[in-house]
Amino acid sequence: MSEPDVSNLLTVAQAIEIIDHADVHPRVITAPLRDALGLRLARDIIADRDAPPFDKSLMDGFAVRCADTRAQNAQLNVVDEIAAGSSASRALGPGEAMAIMTGAPLPQGADGVVPVEEAMRAGNSVVISANPVAGRYITRKGGDCAAGSVVLTRGTKLGPAQIAVAASVGASQVEVFGAPRVAVLATGDELVDVSRPPGGAQIRNSNNLMLAALLRRLHGCAADDFGIAGDDHLAIESGVLRGLERDALFISGGMSMGTHDLVPRVLASLGAVVLITKLRIKPGKPFVYAYIDRGEHRCHVFGLPGNPVSGFACTIRLASRLLTRLAGGDPADKWVHATLDSPLPANGPREFYQPASHNDGVVTPLQWKGSADVFTLAKANAMIVRTENEPALEAGARVRLLEIPS
Ligand code: AMP
Ligand code: MG
Repeated sequence: MSEPDVSNLLTVAQAIEIIDHADVHPRVITAPLRDALGLRLARDIIADRDAPPFDKSLMDGFAVRCADTRAQNAQLNVVDEIAAGSSASRALGPGEAMAIMTGAPLPQGADGVVPVEEAMRAGNSVVISANPVAGRYITRKGGDCAAGSVVLTRGTKLGPAQIAVAASVGASQVEVFGAPRVAVLATGDELVDVSRPPGGAQIRNSNNLMLAALLRRLHGCAADDFGIAGDDHLAIESGVLRGLERDALFISGGMSMGTHDLVPRVLASLGAVVLITKLRIKPGKPFVYAYIDRGEHRCHVFGLPGNPVSGFACTIRLASRLLTRLAGGDPADKWVHATLDSPLPANGPREFYQPASHNDGVVTPLQWKGSADVFTLAKANAMIVRTENEPALEAGARVRLLEIPS
């Protein structure tokens, strides 16, 4: 199918260059560690003490002097019991053992641990059937991590494991980049809220819920929903003005060249610096990126085509990069590669994001009916990225995928 000439439009790569170089001002906040899941550190976290803070037993068993256990079935006197959180009452002498629990500090004089499975206790004595070497079942003081070392670096995203590390070194409050403050606004006279019965020619506003969900999934931010503005300059303007305090505003619909497509004009009238209008991308050609400065604050505006799959693709491929930077991260591409299980026709002049189903390295392109087809999008877990004018591909070809968050 032949398309209008797009050779004067920016390529996706050029748009990414612009978005990746736009100035962003990430916000640094101090947050309780328990509220910091998914946020990125704004400063390194340093170990406040050695981990473990003492020579630690890794087993329930007996702390021994290994030299005392050389003989077959050596018998030792059990002189103490050391529970986790307590310490031995004295040093371990020759011919002695102390019962020790996992996580308890090794007594002075001991150099090995014999697990209960290799020992037979009877009253105050124990027979050792193993022949331990020094250091067995012990983590030395500072063996996991030394006091003063950097345990998490600035920019690290705090997942559950990173939260465990921060907690272990006592970082109950952390300096992090705040989640971007975002809002979504739908435009279009035909739109109604999903809770209302639509008239015959009306369309439910699925974009705001979709975009809010996508932003929450990708960036952990709770978008404010500004609802629907009609195709009306003042209504759109008031939505944009409301959004100016946010870090980013996502507007869908009204982005192209129809007589009712007012968003680019409204943005220009408010002094927006418009860096991208239209791209060589499919779906999503009428994508807009602009920013509006008010004093020190900058609101990034993403103008998305009204069709849901277009807005979806533009958000995960383009807008998301800037939000990652706003959240203190680096928007490096993470491609997945897979093998096509069926042929694909030659691609047109725009970089094409084809909804697809990917499983264990094999990808199936889905029969997709165009940029309004969220029903097929909902069955996809990836988009096959087709380069501009890419020739037809046979089954078995290797392709690049953009993963769709679930
Ligand atoms: P537009 O980009 O305004 O020309 O809209 C393109 C198509 O997307 C039209 O069919 C619109 O009805 C549809 N559309 C626009 N906004 C939304 C929305 N918020 N939710 C669902 N569909 C929309
Ligand atoms: Mg419209």
